[in-house]
Amino acid sequence: MPTKGSAPASLRLDTPVKFLKGVGERRADAFARLGVVTAQDLLWHLPHRYLDASSVIPVARARVGDEVACIGRVVDKGVVPTRRGLRIFRAVLRDASGVIECAWPGQAFLDRTIEVGQTLLVAGTVRFYHGRQLAPSEFLILGDDDETLAPESGRVLPVYPATEGLSHKMIRSLVDRHLDHLLPLVKDVLPAAIWAELALPGLADALRDVHRPASVADAERGRRRLAFDELFDLQLMLVRARTLAKRQRSGIAFEVKRDLTSALKAALPYELTDDQKQAIREITTDMTAPERMHRLLMGDVGTGKTVVALFAMLLAVENDFQAALMAPTELLAEQHARTLTELLAPLGIVPELLLGKMPAAAKKAAKLRLGQGGARIAVGTHALMQESVAFRRLGLVVIDEQHRFGVEQRAALIGKGSAPDVLLLSATPIPRSLALTLYGDLDQSRLRERPPGRGTVRTTIRGEQHRERVLSFVEAECRAGRQAYVVLPIIEESEKADLRAATTMAEMLGARWPELSVGLVHGRLKADERDRVMRRFRDGAVQVLVATTVIEVGIDVPNATVMVIEHPERFGLAQLHQLRGRIGRGAGDSHCILLPGGRTPDRLKAFAATNDGFAIAELDLKERGMGDLIGARQSGGIEVRHARLPEDTPLLQRARELAGQVLAADPMLQRTANQPIRARALARFPRATELFRIG
Ligand code: ADP
Ligand code: MG
Repeated sequence: MPTKGSAPASLRLDTPVKFLKGVGERRADAFARLGVVTAQDLLWHLPHRYLDASSVIPVARARVGDEVACIGRVVDKGVVPTRRGLRIFRAVLRDASGVIECAWPGQAFLDRTIEVGQTLLVAGTVRFYHGRQLAPSEFLILGDDDETLAPESGRVLPVYPATEGLSHKMIRSLVDRHLDHLLPLVKDVLPAAIWAELALPGLADALRDVHRPASVADAERGRRRLAFDELFDLQLMLVRARTLAKRQRSGIAFEVKRDLTSALKAALPYELTDDQKQAIREITTDMTAPERMHRLLMGDVGTGKTVVALFAMLLAVENDFQAALMAPTELLAEQHARTLTELLAPLGIVPELLLGKMPAAAKKAAKLRLGQGGARIAVGTHALMQESVAFRRLGLVVIDEQHRFGVEQRAALIGKGSAPDVLLLSATPIPRSLALTLYGDLDQSRLRERPPGRGTVRTTIRGEQHRERVLSFVEAECRAGRQAYVVLPIIEESEKADLRAATTMAEMLGARWPELSVGLVHGRLKADERDRVMRRFRDGAVQVLVATTVIEVGIDVPNATVMVIEHPERFGLAQLHQLRGRIGRGAGDSHCILLPGGRTPDRLKAFAATNDGFAIAELDLKERGMGDLIGARQSGGIEVRHARLPEDTPLLQRARELAGQVLAADPMLQRTANQPIRARALARFPRATELFRIG
């Protein structure tokens, strides 16, 4: 029931916000910048965080070491420089009980936001620095009406994404003003049986919980309902895409002939790992089925994906089909060609290499062999998917580092066959929950264990006092004929950040080790210059490669056995793991040495303790959330706003089951009861339109 006056009879969810009381033209323009155009958009403009003012205490009671929330008026403020060049914004807050100083290191810009006379809600830890000092992890400028937020009143404040001309305070008051009129207009598209079973609230209740929570737990309950709906819509799309990819045109049912595949097994210089065997079994099952294969093979660098892909390619070839392997760079394509040439030599098969940089005549000859079928296995770059390339009978497409290709590029190569099977390779392990969210349209195989008999990578963390010893170790290794990477977070030293930089490090090491050749690569070098240095490193002409994070993924320099990472605290764990994957590729043991800038955070200790890319991906996801990882699939129209992984994994699993059930009964979501579900998925995910097109 509306509590703040009755709803205007004409109010609808599609009413433009500018017609809502208190909004008007100017604010409507600002709202538009936030993507809020209609009343419905306003309702779905959700807080991005909450401030828990339910535990506000008087400043006099804030004790050193405590995690507290306080409200006070700003009585003094200013920016203070420190010796290390860091600028600290500080403000003194007063309430009825006394005063406390707050400090925001490195956030001098707050001087433009926070003014004397304002009332602030701050939350954070109290420490001792010339007296009690609060280091706020959160703060909120409160309005006049918020001053009733006395310690005992207790409330959870939503904080909304804001924009110029529209403060989060204003948004909060506008949402609050219209919420009770808008909620009755919300229609729940899911049957109550579904959400009730999960102990989730109805949609309108969830929105109320999110906008006007009585407690943090309420807000979380509301979010979970919104997350479930989002995951459900997403899984509808992914399950549908999976069905389409497999069934749209029936695929090739390859037969296991134990001809070339058996010959390869016999000729392999090593025993396959259990994970490799399992992946080959899964691929064989897919390929021998009449449906098309659409599988993703994930595994860290060095887990042996190539040979698994080769088994798949040979299964196609022994069935008189061709197979193509596409890699994102010429360096990687050449590397694959070398590996395949070696492995295929005993079988009398020569892979056909096709690169953009090849001379025209050689390219023409290669294309001819592919077109006539004389070449049975093709390896190449983007050159493979060009219009002028035709295959006689392409039965399998393998795409390495699949995320480096766009959807259309992959489709272009796949389109060169008649419903060929598709195997995608990825060296970026991701947790199961995220894989289901991002790649739920693909079947998945994982390589977790590394082949035995190769050197191990030991990761150690060293303090500043060990720097000399670390450098001596690097020098000794290089003098003994091995090579080293030294990785830094930035290219040049700067005023703002007190960090070691790649250019200065390269100069310093060059001067220190005149007998060694020190190379430098970073993102500001031209691509061909970078390539030149990388090749020199690969060929052993450069012993120490100083680099930012640009070192090419998948680059294989088995002789590089040392990696020093400066300021590892500045990197995400997945990124550190990618970097570390560049060493440990030869027979000897390798060393990854982390030199943190200060105290070692626990996250780095956890990183040093494991080499399992899937475990690290899980930690990384917990630490950073899904944001960055989602980028990889953005081209497919996947954007997740409410769900959080891995926490929401149980919701995700249930959403996938339900989506499967709904689609099994009504593949196009055409039934009357399912129309609202379909409409919402279409509205939420652009790609759904193509997947649920009528006809
Ligand atoms: P990825 O592509 O997954 O990074 P590769 O396929 O390049 O890994 O394999 C890395 C190295 O491991 C190659 O030199 C390959 O010959 C070797 N290798 C692959 N499988 C095995 C195995 N089962 N036992 C020993 N060595 C293996
Ligand atoms: Mg590889």
